[in-house]
Amino acid sequence: MSDQTPRVWIGCLAHYNAGDLVGHWFDAEDADEVTLADVHAGSGLGFTGCEELWCFDHEYLPVSGELSPHEAAQWGRRLAEVEPHLRGALRAWVKSGCYVAEGRGDLPVVAEFEDRYCGQWDSFGDYAQQLAEDISLMDGWPDLAVQHFDWKGWTRDLRFGFTVCDVDTSSGDAPGVYVFNS
Ligand SMILES: [Zn+2]
Repeated sequence: MSDQTPRVWIGCLAHYNAGDLVGHWFDAEDADEVTLADVHAGSGLGFTGCEELWCFDHEYLPVSGELSPHEAAQWGRRLAEVEPHLRGALRAWVKSGCYVAEGRGDLPVVAEFEDRYCGQWDSFGDYAQQLAEDISLMDGWPDLAVQHFDWKGWTRDLRFGFTVCDVDTSSGDAPGVYVFNS
């Protein structure tokens, strides 16, 4: 798995408005501690009169568009609350729009994520089969009933109770789905 640390490109708004792209990449969770000096370092430009910093670009954050360093730090810290191997799933859950957000904001509730996450699977059908085994769905059924069981229909009905998100393969992860209890 590649390094999927959420990062933001923080630039100086005053210089940006004057046509100079002055800034650097930083870890999102530190975004609100980045100073004018950090941002202007290496640019050869002074920062007298500069004031506001802004995140013009980002990676591995489940938000679209630009955001403030304060918001970026909140997202970065929230994502850091889960194990690195779960961050792709948490991002996908947020991007699905069917997630539990905290209060009136957009940040996901990590405890809800952990409750609802049912793992990463090759397909929802694979998850359904494993679930059928786990709950002993066919225990005691006659062979004929097992043979003629309508897997397709059962899986389709089951799916209504879940949120299923494609794994983002752009960063080298294997294709598949993340499954969440809705
Ligand atoms: Zn500046």
